Amino acid sequence: MANQALQSTDERERALLASYAMFSNLSEGRRYEEDEHPYRSFFQRDRDRIVYSAAYRRLSGKMQVFTGDMGDYHRTRLTHTQEVASIARTMGRALRLNEDLIEALALFHDIGHPPYGHAGEDALDECLKDEGGFSHNQYALTIAEELETRHQSFPGLNLTKEVLSGQATRVDKEANGVQPLLEAQVVEAADSMTYDAHDVDDALKLGLVTLDEVHEQEMIRICVDLIKQRASDLGPEEYIRALIHTMVDCQVTNVLENAGPFLANSGWTSINHVRQSDYRIGTVGELADTKKAMEGFLYERVYRHPELIKTRERAQSQIHTLFDTFVANPAPLPARFKKRIEIVGLRRSVGDYIAGMTDRFFEQQYLAFVG
Ligand code: MG
Repeated sequence: MANQALQSTDERERALLASYAMFSNLSEGRRYEEDEHPYRSFFQRDRDRIVYSAAYRRLSGKMQVFTGDMGDYHRTRLTHTQEVASIARTMGRALRLNEDLIEALALFHDIGHPPYGHAGEDALDECLKDEGGFSHNQYALTIAEELETRHQSFPGLNLTKEVLSGQATRVDKEANGVQPLLEAQVVEAADSMTYDAHDVDDALKLGLVTLDEVHEQEMIRICVDLIKQRASDLGPEEYIRALIHTMVDCQVTNVLENAGPFLANSGWTSINHVRQSDYRIGTVGELADTKKAMEGFLYERVYRHPELIKTRERAQSQIHTLFDTFVANPAPLPARFKKRIEIVGLRRSVGDYIAGMTDRFFEQQYLAFVG
């Protein structure tokens, strides 16, 4: 498209990105060749394909940590994903990385979660233990390469190698034999700072932990000091909002204050340097220690809360039962999953079908076929 008013992707990236960012014109491309788009970069198209996929839309019906039975305030897998994308882009922009790739990776990162979060994942892993198990990170690749359809001439979304290999390093850190791009590292860092903060928020709101208990955490003490410097006389709700924002803000600041100077002094001139280095973008120093302690607290007091254990146990037993029901009688499976039995076997196809369900659809299926 010869239109001088429009800036090309190359021009834009040359003007904005650091030498160690992933430039679109260095992409290894897609498995099935496609013409380039006149005004969207490879990674913008990936992002759009992800947003328009059925699996992405279903994230709104999948629990992050808390189920739909617990009200409608807390995060779903979709809102978590959007928070990750937002924080990852903030860091990526400040570090002059490729925001389009970051956004695509962030929106994609949890797309493989089955119903009922990690409880669902563990149950499916047991159901499929003789078939190689189940992991949500691996299933995201199955969705992108096999289950979604975008074009009649090839299966999957035909995403770029960079998005697929970024996801592959979530499955296996040694995947591809090279280190992840900085764009993938930023998403990884954003994911953990996002869930730390929003799980505290949701747990407080649901009354699973008290503010006093949260205040005992060193990371929270750091945040409270920062809040006191910035504002006083906050009402209880404003205070919790400030606390959660400050948790994210101090982690982002910590990452940028450390990664920024490191990258500026790295001498790296291309992604080849990134690919060979074991440097990782993340929180460092005292804050990293307090973050670890915070995650221990969340694990013990929130993720292992009796309310959540109850949900977890029910979900796991129901997933086992529905899985066995479909394996014994695959007749109710949609046509494409019946067809898929010939390719991946009965158990894997049943697992893939269940993994794609939202929490609510799973419950409907359970009621319909188990009772
Ligand atoms: Mg996540």
